[in-house]
Amino acid sequence: MIYKALIRSKTDYGSILLKNAKTNHLNMIQTKLNTAIKLSIGGFKSSPIESIRNIANEIPPNLRREKLLLLYCARTKRNINNPAIKVINAYIQEAVKENIKINNILERKPYNFPPWNTTFNVNLFLTKFKKENTMPSIYKKMLNNKLQEYPNSVHTDASKTNDGVGLAMIINNLSIAYKLPPQASIFTAEAMAIYKAVKYLHTEYANHQTKCIILSDSLSNLIAITNTRNQTDITKLIQEETFIAENKNIHIHFVWIPGHIGIPGNEMADQEAHNAITSSLTATINSITFADAKNEIKLHSNNKWHSHWRKLSTKLNIIKNNINPWKNPELSRKEETIINRLRIGHTHLTHSYLMSKDDPPLCDSCNVLLTVNHIITECQKYSQYRNQYHISEQICQALGPNPQDVKNLILFLKKTELFSYSKDLMFGANKVLYKEKKRSTSDEIIGANLK
Ligand SMILES: [Zn+2]
Repeated sequence: MIYKALIRSKTDYGSILLKNAKTNHLNMIQTKLNTAIKLSIGGFKSSPIESIRNIANEIPPNLRREKLLLLYCARTKRNINNPAIKVINAYIQEAVKENIKINNILERKPYNFPPWNTTFNVNLFLTKFKKENTMPSIYKKMLNNKLQEYPNSVHTDASKTNDGVGLAMIINNLSIAYKLPPQASIFTAEAMAIYKAVKYLHTEYANHQTKCIILSDSLSNLIAITNTRNQTDITKLIQEETFIAENKNIHIHFVWIPGHIGIPGNEMADQEAHNAITSSLTATINSITFADAKNEIKLHSNNKWHSHWRKLSTKLNIIKNNINPWKNPELSRKEETIINRLRIGHTHLTHSYLMSKDDPPLCDSCNVLLTVNHIITECQKYSQYRNQYHISEQICQALGPNPQDVKNLILFLKKTELFSYSKDLMFGANKVLYKEKKRSTSDEIIGANLK
């Protein structure tokens, strides 16, 4: 947390300009950051940096810079008048080649309505009735009473499958459907369906005073419409279109309805949205929101990191074949440090010889090379406790993320006194941490060199 807030934020600032910087210049920053990450997880001195980053869930610096650059490009694209667009176009084309489509980002213009005193008519009264306690016929009856107040109603729905994203609106028996790029989220698709419905009503009833109702089963979108302060780009479009319509006396109300309970309009919209995905006749709306672009960029960077991680052959690769964070919320700092060191496979007990320039240590009972794998899964000295605490003979399970396995491992380490400081068999957490802390405060880790 401290690392991310106080240290990484400083090196992130302006890092998008370092794309073509020399490696030795980048290393000047990176070595300091590496020390900080190692300290934050309590890693042993000799631990490979790739393993430390994996445990700390910290993406490699080149990928982080690339990610920040792509995010900057996507954010800049939201405003077509931004003069920086000329500069970033080359990067956007490069990204498109790698299949990250950030060239058609939905624009975000200044407000066309005063957000501080504008409210939208969103009715969530049906959410008071829980789906599990309410018969579909009761919902339908309440809804029919509501619908009688409105001469015009539109049902909207969206669908996202592995094949793509579709959305539809049903006006009486007329159906209008669209496709969205596959990276669009279900939130975006539902919002786009609502936006298209508002736009349709606005065009259809131009210059007629009328009352319309839009029915959607997307609660998150309807709640978003009530928020005029921090809305997403697509929600802002809905609000602006509704505001313009309102000024022309087309009063649009939004109502939440439960999905998949047999409300005819909703069922039809659902089916049409689903059909739109695979239909070659359906038009595609070829733009994505910034939020979706952000997710896509994150996914792209993580995929790159994941495939890079899979190619490595550290000790941690045997235990952890992915880059997902493993959380240990109930562990103390000391326990977490020890677990991290064991997973990385570098501890004071097994690797301090590298610092003292001695020979690698041997196990005094088995006379084989002393490694974490040997201690945890093989050493005959501990076989009784290994059985008592159900420590797996497979290192990937013994040091795996399962909370019960982690608890058992801590008990095993305590019982065998490998955890204890006094026996000098400790994995070196406190001793080394103390030394590292002293050194880093005197260097002031990062401030001095970066200024
Ligand atoms: Zn042994």
